Amino acid sequence: MNSYTSWGRYPRSHPAEVVPLSWISRIPDFNQFSHPVLVYGKGRSYGDTCLNDGGVLLDSSGLDRFIQFDTHTGVLRCESGVTLQSVLRLSLPDWFLPVTPGTQFVTIGGAIANDVHGKNHHRAGSFGCHVRSFELLRSDKGRVFCSPEENKDLFAATIGGLGLTGMILWAEFQLKRASGPWIECEQIRFEKLDTFFELSAASDENYEYTVAWLDCASAGHKLGRGIFIRGNHSSAGPQDSHGPLPLPGFEAPEMLISRPTVRAFNWAYFNSQFRESTRNRVHYEKFFYPLDRVAEWNRLYGQRGFLQYQFVVPYQNREVVAEVLDLIARSREVCTLSVLKVFGSVSSPGLLSFPRPGVTLALDFPYQGQPTLDLCERFDQVMKRNGGVVYPAKDARMSAESFQTYFPQWKELSNFLDPRFESDFWRRVTPTNGNRQ
Ligand SMILES: Cc1cc2nc3c(=O)[nH]c(=O)nc-3n(C[C@H](O)[C@H](O)[C@H](O)COP(=O)(O)OP(=O)(O)OC[C@H]3O[C@@H](n4cnc5c(N)ncnc54)[C@H](O)[C@@H]3O)c2cc1C
Repeated sequence: MNSYTSWGRYPRSHPAEVVPLSWISRIPDFNQFSHPVLVYGKGRSYGDTCLNDGGVLLDSSGLDRFIQFDTHTGVLRCESGVTLQSVLRLSLPDWFLPVTPGTQFVTIGGAIANDVHGKNHHRAGSFGCHVRSFELLRSDKGRVFCSPEENKDLFAATIGGLGLTGMILWAEFQLKRASGPWIECEQIRFEKLDTFFELSAASDENYEYTVAWLDCASAGHKLGRGIFIRGNHSSAGPQDSHGPLPLPGFEAPEMLISRPTVRAFNWAYFNSQFRESTRNRVHYEKFFYPLDRVAEWNRLYGQRGFLQYQFVVPYQNREVVAEVLDLIARSREVCTLSVLKVFGSVSSPGLLSFPRPGVTLALDFPYQGQPTLDLCERFDQVMKRNGGVVYPAKDARMSAESFQTYFPQWKELSNFLDPRFESDFWRRVTPTNGNRQ
């Protein structure tokens, strides 16, 4: 049972029962369980959206079959437990994922339930933008086919619906044309946030993928420095060489997470890029999934686990990034990793989707008890003053009041919830209403 944790390993939660699923034709009737149910994909959510304390977890990883792949159009239909890694192994060299998060160990069901985003948000929007249809299994309605035309409200509620509208059995989505597994990428050092925003604006048109690593452990005039990474698919062959693409810190399994060690790692990473800008052609796994190279790196944080805080604020309020960095610098918390990106204006189809136009920053902190929670709470105050929103897939601690401020649509979502489905996250953020209206 203990292996059914979330990626941050905080909070700990104990399901009463785990049911491994193997066949979509033999899913047990949800009404037979005396406890609430929830589907568990690969547990790559950082907080508690994939947890169900005292309830039933339906493990979807056995639902890993491809159903149909049109190699001419790139339309793929598969069971919901298929991972992004399996899709890429099937579809390359001709087709690539339309959108991918920073790990390939995510299921299609999980990608839809959290409506995940990636480095190409400014071009492609979120994963849900590319979903054509899926079949949902509900305790009250049985199997329901959903698409933008049929049962469209349930379709929209399920994309980014945090797994609460029923179980996605299979999904069909559109892949994008690719020219092989290589990415032509460029890395550019920047010394201040203004330069990041200039680079981002200048890159949006010609680069499909953009993101930046920020040195969050530095202080004073170095605050806001980082490395901007941009890239495009390449039809040329391999030319993988040096360069600091893999993110810092996680190369050292014995790493002691403290402010001095993180500062030292960040210094080394930032300075490993000698020139202001370098170009390289790298394999897609190195470009998109640097953290996947270290298996179970989340365990480096020890028993207490870690938190990720990811927010998005409207572009005009981008000075919030500096305000948050300053709060970190003034605190005693250690920010081990921080990733910055400007989202584009492609709308997400999901009712409760997180991605929206603006600036997004993701920050990792070892969990040190109340002081870590207090810092996140201070971030929440900044978000509320600036129209910011926090990503539920990464969250383990926001208050009900914060969630309901960020996502006023939660009430509308409540109308679409499966009466048998609940999660630790939902019980936390809607404590008085429960998940049913
Ligand atoms: C290293 C790393 C990098 C990441 N980078 C990004 C990123 O760049 N962008 C981003 O958006 N996210 C990112 N994430 C978060 C991750 O992509 C999401 O949390 C994703 O939803 C996890 O998918 P999963 O299959 O592990 O699902 P789980 O975490 O197991 O579950 C997530 C939710 O999906 C629901 N669910 C799963 N399967 C089904 C189904 N068949 N039917 C209905 N509901 C279902 C669950 O009930 C739960 O609510 C990252 C995570 C890690 C560990």
